[in-house]
Amino acid sequence: MRIGAHVERADPLADAAARQAEVVQFFLTDPQGWEDPKPRADAEALRTAEVDIVIHAPYRINVATLNNRVRIPSRKLLLAHANGAAAVNALGLVVHGGHVNQGDDLAAGFENWRKTFAYAADQGGFPLPVLIENTAGGDNACARSLDALARLWDVVGPLGAGFCLDTCHAHAGGEALLDLVDRVKAITGRIDLVHANGSRDPFDSRRDRHDNLTQGQLDPELVVAVVRAAQAPVVVETPGGEAGQAADIAFLRTQLAG
Ligand SMILES: [Zn+2]
Repeated sequence: MRIGAHVERADPLADAAARQAEVVQFFLTDPQGWEDPKPRADAEALRTAEVDIVIHAPYRINVATLNNRVRIPSRKLLLAHANGAAAVNALGLVVHGGHVNQGDDLAAGFENWRKTFAYAADQGGFPLPVLIENTAGGDNACARSLDALARLWDVVGPLGAGFCLDTCHAHAGGEALLDLVDRVKAITGRIDLVHANGSRDPFDSRRDRHDNLTQGQLDPELVVAVVRAAQAPVVVETPGGEAGQAADIAFLRTQLAG
């Protein structure tokens, strides 16, 4: 398994080297903004790097919502980031599953995911796999509970969507990690990426606060079991900067070897 970390976007290859990462994930723009990505000076170095590249889409993107003032710019921004991710030869673009507002019908959210893929197809299609990530919170989320995920996948699975499994989000979102990979794969048929994170919060807390793997309220052995079962590239999105993430990567390598 190739293991790495989520890092700042300024110099991801230097950050990867400092962490002995084999995979590096970063945002192309301010994750809280609505900017299209710009060409990067290090694009050629990223394209030819030994390290695998993953791009994370901005957090504001919500293609599922029935609020068209969010949904329409979201799907446009998602495609722009997919093109930016392809320009650095990323293996995928991670985006959160999104949600509908309280009182809105979740079925309309899944239909909006279908429209998102149709919109992209009209523009030539997504140039790389879009990896939909499970989320920690929300009663109206498209990809928190496995029940919702199954309904989402009926729509997006045939359209070629990939899946990113986040261990903190599953735990905080109320899905136990024991045998989770089997239960997810029974729905999606695939796990393209694992976000291996600890959690500062208890099971089913619906809070999204990552912790280092050997800290917090998520049993690290369960995280290791998920990583082992998934057989996919792994990214830690954990705190503590270079030292904290390097320790988490080393922990996973040691556990997987043992
Ligand atoms: Zn994540």
